[in-house]
Amino acid sequence: MTSKSTSGLMIRGGTVLTMDPALGDVPQGDVRIESGRIVAVGPGLPVQAGDEVIDAKGMLVLPGLIDTHTHMWQGPLKGLGAAMWGMADYHQHIFALREKLSAEDMHDAAFATGVEMLDNGITTVLDFCHNVMTPAHAQRSLDGHHKTGQRVLFCYGMLGSFETLAADHVWRLAQVRALAAELPRGPDARVNLGMALGSLEYAGMSLFESEVACSRELGLPMSFHQNVAGQIHEIERAGLWGADMLPVHCNPALESELEVLAGHGCGISFTPESEVGDGRSTRVIARSHRLGVTPSLGIDVPSRVALDLFSQMRITFWLMRNEEAEAERNAGRWPLTRYPGVPFIQPRHLLEYVTVNAARAIGCGDQLGRVAPGCIADVLMLRAGAYSPSLGDPAAHVVLQASIADVDTVIVGGEISKRAGRLTHVDRADAITASKRMRERLFS
Ligand SMILES: [Zn+2]
Repeated sequence: MTSKSTSGLMIRGGTVLTMDPALGDVPQGDVRIESGRIVAVGPGLPVQAGDEVIDAKGMLVLPGLIDTHTHMWQGPLKGLGAAMWGMADYHQHIFALREKLSAEDMHDAAFATGVEMLDNGITTVLDFCHNVMTPAHAQRSLDGHHKTGQRVLFCYGMLGSFETLAADHVWRLAQVRALAAELPRGPDARVNLGMALGSLEYAGMSLFESEVACSRELGLPMSFHQNVAGQIHEIERAGLWGADMLPVHCNPALESELEVLAGHGCGISFTPESEVGDGRSTRVIARSHRLGVTPSLGIDVPSRVALDLFSQMRITFWLMRNEEAEAERNAGRWPLTRYPGVPFIQPRHLLEYVTVNAARAIGCGDQLGRVAPGCIADVLMLRAGAYSPSLGDPAAHVVLQASIADVDTVIVGGEISKRAGRLTHVDRADAITASKRMRERLFS
């Protein structure tokens, strides 16, 4: 991190989508940032001597996008999963590569993937790092993350080689404890530590329980893949369920399991392209939303999904609309008719998924995901269309029209990471080189 501190940064005259229920949208609004925090939002804020001013005229100003589930070690492997058909292919062609990746590969992947995500407007990511094959794998991943400037919740993966799961568990927990003691933590730390719990179907309850106990003792947020129905109930029966857990996918979750999540104020991480690619049912996203579970989105597997949350928002919106329309057709209501509660999903909901909901899912709901006074200054400026902005709701423009090509400026913790379409403190060429290095080591 070499970027200078930008206390006294003013973003002027943009359409500000604060995503804060009290502030709403501010047309022609200004955002004032000091010492890494947003201190004021509104029209016509006074510019002070020494302020750095960014003209946001014609731009949408919104919270930096937050991805709640990506395996960043797969970033340089893009394309490798393109022809996959189902989970068996994934295990054979992608997951099996975990055993071949070195600690240096993990460093290069974390760095290259982080730079690309940041370039694409993703200021925060939960890196579900389920490839900690040696302590050096975790350490070098963290080293890569520290260089990008992206905000990362590095979830240390407890799932390693299946044959040595129990034995490796001991050194993994010891390293988690050591990292928790040595890493600066809290909302102002750019890289924070969490735990990617070993999947119950592989690890069993005894190992799972010790991971949860360790996380709670150290105050680490947790995430895990729920690929099997009944696991949320199993965790609840063991007395382990809590709001510090973020389950991922949850496609087969029982209705009563989603009710448990809603009761604890939990969310899920839904990874649309990945789940469609696996052949899973995607109905869980609408089921969760209707029950009051707060969904967020993830890219999951960059080996076949672009590092692009705009496309994830868009595909999720249309999946949900498609499912709703199908229910209406099946009920004999054709042609479609609007009536109270139908359609229930709106484009703006999707922007909530990748901002306020996602911030809450990673335990930072009071700090991130909004452009509001007191929040950490993670801010995105988006060109509102090369030809014209959308009529109507600007959030609908972000969800249905915008692309990564529109990302003009990215600010993380008050520091400018990208300005006028160009990365400012990391070099795209370095990320490309890191990706190439990893591919050469792996495939030559
Ligand atoms: Zn995953």
